[in-house]
Amino acid sequence: MQIKKEVSLKPYNTFGIDAKASLLAEFSSTQELQDILQHPAVKPLPKLILGGGSNVLFTQDVEAAVLLNRIKGITQEDQPDGEHVLVKSGSGETWHDLVLYSIEHHLGGIENLSLIPGTVGAAPLQNIGAYGVELKDTFYSLEAVEMETGNLITFTKDQCNFGYRESIFKKDAKGKYIVTSVTLQLTRKPTFNTSYGAITQTLEEMQVKELSLKAISDAVIHIRKSKLPDPAKIGNAGSFFKNPEIPIAQFELLKEQYPNMPGYPVSEFTVKVPAGWMIEQCGWKGKVLGQHGVHKDQALVLVNYGGATGNEVKELAYEIIHSVQEKFGITLTPEVNII
Ligand SMILES: Cc1cc2nc3c(=O)[nH]c(=O)nc-3n(C[C@H](O)[C@H](O)[C@H](O)COP(=O)(O)OP(=O)(O)OC[C@H]3O[C@@H](n4cnc5c(N)ncnc54)[C@H](O)[C@@H]3O)c2cc1C
Repeated sequence: MQIKKEVSLKPYNTFGIDAKASLLAEFSSTQELQDILQHPAVKPLPKLILGGGSNVLFTQDVEAAVLLNRIKGITQEDQPDGEHVLVKSGSGETWHDLVLYSIEHHLGGIENLSLIPGTVGAAPLQNIGAYGVELKDTFYSLEAVEMETGNLITFTKDQCNFGYRESIFKKDAKGKYIVTSVTLQLTRKPTFNTSYGAITQTLEEMQVKELSLKAISDAVIHIRKSKLPDPAKIGNAGSFFKNPEIPIAQFELLKEQYPNMPGYPVSEFTVKVPAGWMIEQCGWKGKVLGQHGVHKDQALVLVNYGGATGNEVKELAYEIIHSVQEKFGITLTPEVNII
């Protein structure tokens, strides 16, 4: 076990923010994690778990023990029905590697979630989602170490209380558990989900004759690469805000004022409105303010062009929230964890 003091977190977050951690330690097994939690230098400090650092914004130095998750390993177990397979992954696996594993083993269910950055262990935190699919659709269970006791606890899907970019780990159980493994139930008989227009169009452009897990994954990768900035080139954490859900009555009133306003029914009573559209209408798209700004093609993505501080990005986020609130009467909520 190696514990380092006063370490820059710049290489460990995709925003590329240069904050310092009081302590930094890596763990590559549940036992090693349990040992680290008992270490006299770590025990008294608050803890922050980091996977790929692709959903955090550091606004100050982190006066905590930052624990980097490197638990690897993927196993599978056939279910008695002959169709389903439980795939258990170490939480430190890169999410996209798990997607590639599923495709290689002809197991369907997560191909639409290709290329989402980060680790498997962080995926349940915000119930990652993209192109009509969410983690919860295939989620079976997870194991997590309870920070206070060091005990390993299993959470079933129901216990995780998944919602849109939400789970119990962002609410009642926030900061209390460290996910060590995630088990998904994948299928040997996939139903391909091409409900997103862009996927169908890209498959056509790619001249795909027969649908397959790989073809869908390739199409998603193609779309994502063309739409989203690569954090290796421009610091960012993907969508900074969630798409708000508003009552239908409010949406209809807004539609009278803004006839082009897009909205997708979520239930009988609510409509989801794209935050990116509203941000763009407020004139933020492509805005550059010194070293940070709003991406030129994706108004939902805030970017660090180089030396921005986390506070500058946070202030920009609050200015955006304010102007969307003024114009549309809707309060945006950050999807990124502001630390
Ligand atoms: C370019 C880009 C595109 C993106 N696109 C999408 C998208 O399409 N859909 C989507 O849902 N997300 C998207 N994201 C956000 C991000 O990829 C996901 O939220 C991802 O799950 C974060 O994983 P991570 O390992 O990087 O988490 P981190 O940023 O390291 O951590 C995120 C939060 O989870 C906690 N955490 C991390 N690991 C653990 C663990 N093992 N146990 C307990 N807590 C933990 C951290 O403390 C922190 O609060 C995108 C990000 C980027 C940069």
